[in-house]
Amino acid sequence: MNTTFVQGGLRGGPVDALTTPADLDRWIEEHAEAFPRELIERATDRATTFHVEEFRRLREALRELSRACTAEEPYDEQPVTVVNRDARLAVSWPELGHSGAPGPVVRWVEADPHLILLGMVAVSGVELLAGPRRHEVRACAAPGCILYFVKSHRRREWCTPGCGNRVRVARHHDRRRS
Ligand SMILES: [Zn+2]
Repeated sequence: MNTTFVQGGLRGGPVDALTTPADLDRWIEEHAEAFPRELIERATDRATTFHVEEFRRLREALRELSRACTAEEPYDEQPVTVVNRDARLAVSWPELGHSGAPGPVVRWVEADPHLILLGMVAVSGVELLAGPRRHEVRACAAPGCILYFVKSHRRREWCTPGCGNRVRVARHHDRRRS
């Protein structure tokens, strides 16, 4: 969800860091530790524009659901359908290993490793937006920022320390001006 953001605060502009297959490859590489190693090892083929479109659709759905979540509104049917359909791509089961290794070996119903990764992102979205931590989802309060975050401690107000600093600097300037 944080692959689209505003750079430069109120005078800045929107940045989309997930528009090309190379962007998606980079994202997977940077987040490899969040996924099972055997899956990352299988996802050696480059991502395609089809994969990018699917990840972008899921991102939009998760952003809309996060918005509804922070506004304490019910979730709309359309983004719910997108997330639920994608979550099915993560279906897996364990198997006993062959040739002496006890296993377990994880198998997935879906053959395309990029779509399995998409499914796992959707599952983590379900776990967040339907779980107890949904009450801790926040929209960043910094002016111009469009990111959401999970409130990790009581006083947290910003998505990143960068946004917090930006707000503190702006307040300082306002005080000096007045
Ligand atoms: Zn922010």
